[in-house]
Amino acid sequence: MDKTTPEQKGLPADFVERLRRIVPQPAFSPILESFSLPKTTTFRVNPLKSDAQTLQSELLKAGLHPQPVDWLPGAFRLPTEEKRLLTETDAFYEGRLYIQNLSSMLAPLLLAPQPRERILDLAAAPGGKTLMMAGIMEDRGWISAVEPVSDRFHRLRRNLENAGTAIVHTYRKDGRGVGRACPLQFDRVLLDAPCSSEAKFRSAEPRTFAYWSLRKIRESQKLQKRLILSAWQSLKPGGTLLYSTCSFAPEENEAVVDFLLTKASQEAVLLPVDLPISNTMEGLTEWGKRHFSSELRLSRRILPDGEMDGFFLAKIRKRP
Ligand code: SAM
Repeated sequence: MDKTTPEQKGLPADFVERLRRIVPQPAFSPILESFSLPKTTTFRVNPLKSDAQTLQSELLKAGLHPQPVDWLPGAFRLPTEEKRLLTETDAFYEGRLYIQNLSSMLAPLLLAPQPRERILDLAAAPGGKTLMMAGIMEDRGWISAVEPVSDRFHRLRRNLENAGTAIVHTYRKDGRGVGRACPLQFDRVLLDAPCSSEAKFRSAEPRTFAYWSLRKIRESQKLQKRLILSAWQSLKPGGTLLYSTCSFAPEENEAVVDFLLTKASQEAVLLPVDLPISNTMEGLTEWGKRHFSSELRLSRRILPDGEMDGFFLAKIRKRP
């Protein structure tokens, strides 16, 4: 029997039921709706090859209508129907812009890497966040970008080359071994973890959720726990770790950060995640029978809408 209700929009019933328990009740229906809305296209200038004003004029001349995002300098939104034309511009081919959801841009912004620092991007392909960090650092310093999956690794290399960065060093490695191989080496670490990608589900594209299951969530959590320990081991005392996922599952988000806080209780301090937007909620402090540290309130969940994808962000400092 087909148990799909119109409200579920064809998404897996268990996923929808869990989502109802995760997000604030008044936000639930609009959030469910967002899985079937066409998303606004957003992108950002690559500061290593252009600047916001020059790029905007270049795109206007090409017949496009980019609008600057007021809370994120260098970021633009574009009417959905202009996306194809954007991907046919010289600016796109020559790496003067990078198409990226605004939620994804928040992770590098929050980690705030500084010129001359040593940065680790532990799950890097296709490289959108790596490149944004290289831009923030004015291409000065060192970024190690790790990706074990071969075709994704090559895509990462191509994107880096096209963007013109010189400070990113790529490693086709499993991130789980990096902490042991490079202990206490990095000022800041980004772990944008492999996850069940729930925020990428599209109602009209069943392939986006065809492999979703509670088992998959449990498997992702197992990998994420090992990756976060590796990320932590690689961080210098006084350094900062940014953990993010595009999953709504508390098992992949608060539970993973809570695991680190328990393992490294003497050293790990959760920092507040301050965001210049209103479509957010605090991290959960309980899920089913599980209770997490009350500090998890400081982490943030981005609530999806017609523009932004769902996202989870937690910032953790290693005591000096
Ligand atoms: N940060 C990327 C960006 O903004 O373009 C997206 C990263 S994506 C969410 C997660 C990545 O982790 C995938 O490319 C996946 O292949 C990679 N991955 C999977 N297993 C991994 C592992 N054991 N160690 C490191 N990375 C892994």
